[in-house]
Amino acid sequence: MNAPTPDSKLSFAQLPLSAAMQANLAQLGYTQMTPIQAASLPLALEGQDLIAQAQTGSGKTAAFALALLHRLDASRFDVQALVLCPTRELADQVTQEIRRLARAADNIKVLTLCGGSPMKPQMESLGFGCHIAVGTPGRVMDHLERGSLNLGALSTLVLDEADRMLDMGFFDDIVTVARQCPKKRQTLLFSATYPEGIAKLSSQFMREPKEVKLAGGASASQAPAQIEQIAFEVSEGERLHAVSQLLRHFRPASTIAFCNTKQQCRDLVDVLNGQGFVAMALHGDLEQRERDQVLIQFANRSCSVLVATDVAARGLDIAQLECVINVEVTPDTEVHVHRIGRTGRAGAQGLALSLASLDEMGRIGRIEQLLGREFVWQKLDSLKDADGAPLQPAMDTLQILGGRKEKIRPGDILGALTGEAGFKFEQVGKINITEFHSYVAVERSIAREAARRLSEGKLKGRKVKVRRMADLSKLD
Ligand code: AMP
Repeated sequence: MNAPTPDSKLSFAQLPLSAAMQANLAQLGYTQMTPIQAASLPLALEGQDLIAQAQTGSGKTAAFALALLHRLDASRFDVQALVLCPTRELADQVTQEIRRLARAADNIKVLTLCGGSPMKPQMESLGFGCHIAVGTPGRVMDHLERGSLNLGALSTLVLDEADRMLDMGFFDDIVTVARQCPKKRQTLLFSATYPEGIAKLSSQFMREPKEVKLAGGASASQAPAQIEQIAFEVSEGERLHAVSQLLRHFRPASTIAFCNTKQQCRDLVDVLNGQGFVAMALHGDLEQRERDQVLIQFANRSCSVLVATDVAARGLDIAQLECVINVEVTPDTEVHVHRIGRTGRAGAQGLALSLASLDEMGRIGRIEQLLGREFVWQKLDSLKDADGAPLQPAMDTLQILGGRKEKIRPGDILGALTGEAGFKFEQVGKINITEFHSYVAVERSIAREAARRLSEGKLKGRKVKVRRMADLSKLD
């Protein structure tokens, strides 16, 4: 097969970027601009304010990162760019991408300012000086109020996933932050959807923003053809139990079940766990540490069903998601497209299942209209294996009391399990180290024994406390 011919219209070479940046892009394997980059970068590099429609995975981060790096003066140790993001996960991803792109220039300091981490180290880091801050609105406000963050020298303000920040009630915070920035600056707003608040935001503090939309509509093109959408009619009373019937029949190894409310999340997790599934809730009432623990267990294959609200699941980068279940059809068609776009990535076959009561048929109709495709309807009682045993996740997670603070590294844990404790390399999965805890996924069948042997042995020359996450009180 011939390699595709590069399209010169999409080449980074036509952009006014430094030779070092061009070389860095090539090294990162960014050979061509993505559609959103091609549409926004020429304008953004000229200093235009932009309202750009873009989803996660479109390359939007590089679109604004290249613009803000272009205007940056590395010799000045002031915060010259601020990126506001709805969640800490997204802020972390954005920081990483900016750091990758900033490698071309000297010593550019990027800081993440998010809730859930102690204030003091962030204040100290700000005190040492930094060029770019990436954070969530609440924490950025905290720093502004305490005077640890000064935006007087800012030249670029970015609002990433602005629609989600509005969903989360950050309108006033965003306006307050923008008021503290110099009037003469560039503002770049990225959003997957355009709820009312976006126009309100832009009219308050953007200068003749240009709108960047991709031809064909970003939403429709976001629903990859290989996602099979199946709908099931349910009554209110059978909705939660129907989720377990779907899971038993289709047996996906990893599923996100989307609920419209936190309470529905809690109820569904209770039902599923009561039936022997390993399901965990992800919603806005969790503390940061609980949220991290849930995400670690889902990503390391110790939890097979994540039951989430849309806001809580936003910004998550979860690979290999086999199935999405819409426990209820959302009234927002764009949200539906976003939900199902999480399965079937990278050419893999995706399964999107929706439970709809008679009241939700109108919503289904609107989604079909938007996508130009119809749902396939099936009856719950036609599912053959709806009574099968729940599929157990492959792994189980052990929590070790000790993390970065104790200088524990993944290799120490892997070494302890495969050395002294005598387990095989293949029986150990993902290892995550946080500030005070470490988490290691091990094959489910060896979890108890692995926890026992790790507690009996030593890690970094010291005894450590080890517990199975499943033995800790269930997160709710
Ligand atoms: P984002 O939508 O910003 O989350 O980006 C999605 C992924 O695409 C990230 O892993 C980026 O590193 C990558 N990416 C961004 N721009 C390009 C490009 N022009 N070529 C190849 N990969 C890219």
